[in-house]
Amino acid sequence: MKKPGIGTLCVHAGYEPKKGEPRQMPIIQSTTFKYETSDQMGALFDLEAAGYFYTRLQNPTNDMVAARLAALEGGVAGMLTSSGQAANFFACLNICEAGSHIVSTASIYGGTYNLLAVSFKKIGIDVSFVDQDASDEEIEKLFRPETRAVFAETVTNPGVRVLDIERWVKIAHSHGVPIIVDNTFPTPVNCRPIEWGVDIVTHSTTKYLDGHGTTVGGAIIDSGNFDWMAHADKYPGLTTPDASYHGLTYATKFGKLAYITKATAHLMRDFGSIQAPQNAFYLNLGIQTLHLRVKRCCESALKVAKMLQSRPEVKWIRYSDLETDPDHANQLKYCPDGSCGVMAFALKGGRDFANRFMDNLKLITIETHVADCHSCILHPASHTHRQLSDEQLAAAGIDPDLMRLSIGLEDADDVIADLIQAIDNAK
Ligand SMILES: *Cc1c(COP(=O)(O)O)cnc(C)c1O
Repeated sequence: MKKPGIGTLCVHAGYEPKKGEPRQMPIIQSTTFKYETSDQMGALFDLEAAGYFYTRLQNPTNDMVAARLAALEGGVAGMLTSSGQAANFFACLNICEAGSHIVSTASIYGGTYNLLAVSFKKIGIDVSFVDQDASDEEIEKLFRPETRAVFAETVTNPGVRVLDIERWVKIAHSHGVPIIVDNTFPTPVNCRPIEWGVDIVTHSTTKYLDGHGTTVGGAIIDSGNFDWMAHADKYPGLTTPDASYHGLTYATKFGKLAYITKATAHLMRDFGSIQAPQNAFYLNLGIQTLHLRVKRCCESALKVAKMLQSRPEVKWIRYSDLETDPDHANQLKYCPDGSCGVMAFALKGGRDFANRFMDNLKLITIETHVADCHSCILHPASHTHRQLSDEQLAAAGIDPDLMRLSIGLEDADDVIADLIQAIDNAK
């Protein structure tokens, strides 16, 4: 049979009910699981047998949703986490420890930047940031003997830049380290980084994957392609015996499943950031319509972006699906069906005009959120970054006039009309 299309995977992958079983993926709302003999339980604790024993480590509902995401991304296994932050934290911590170093692109989500630049530093993991369009030489200079991973976003939040994935994969692999990419904005419907050689994919499932603004969550998907044993000295956590599991070595015992097995058996056991099964159920409802919603958001966003581009009040706009955008070639290559429904733009007239414009919006809401069914807007200079002066914002690479606009599932004509009336009434 031909490989199922992305829409079919959204609806079916990871859960196939048998005779008399629930048609919809069930919520297994249970902390623990019953066994019949002491030995059966012991084998689970030794990782000698596969099975469920405590939801802090694994839960069947979560695993079905993770398997669905792994199928969508083209990976071998996945794991859900309580948030996108937890996903990026665990994705790195699974292969880093005090003394390790990471090379990251600079234009990434603010929460991830804080995690890498501030919190990782406190636990002894050093991160070098570099412009994603820097020359190969500039990027290569940052690698050290202790470098353990490269980190980037496929489409950045809030700058909506599109990564040249193949170039970054090549650089990471030439230094013998895996590349982890956060694929939250395009989702696997628009971009499948593993097909371009990426090793590990992360998500804030809070955004399009859930898509309705109901549940905070995250996910990690492993391609199974990175050869840990070939770089055994760098990844002792995967390639040497784990004393907390009677001297088992993940890479030799679990092969392609080593990375996700370790993240589950070690990180979830010790740090415990599991997604609630109830939330995994909501997430799954979102994924079942992901292919329809993402397509619609992109179609509407392109109409909105073209309208904004034509208006004299607009100072600049970044949306990679516009033919004039500097990242348009990358968008056509990596996200041929569209990048996402989020764009960044600025109005002439500074903060005062931007604030009057936002106060006049009626349909589009002012929110610290993106990428769901409701159109929304955020002005970093007035909201998330309001403690910074214009000069400090410029130093952080943020135009004080930048607004992040996320287009939802309303009729595009209504969203466009709302933007036009708000611009006109702000004058
Ligand atoms: C929102 C977001 C995160 C953080 O996810 P939470 O679910 O809010 O913890 C990480 N990366 C990107 C690209 C995001 O947009």
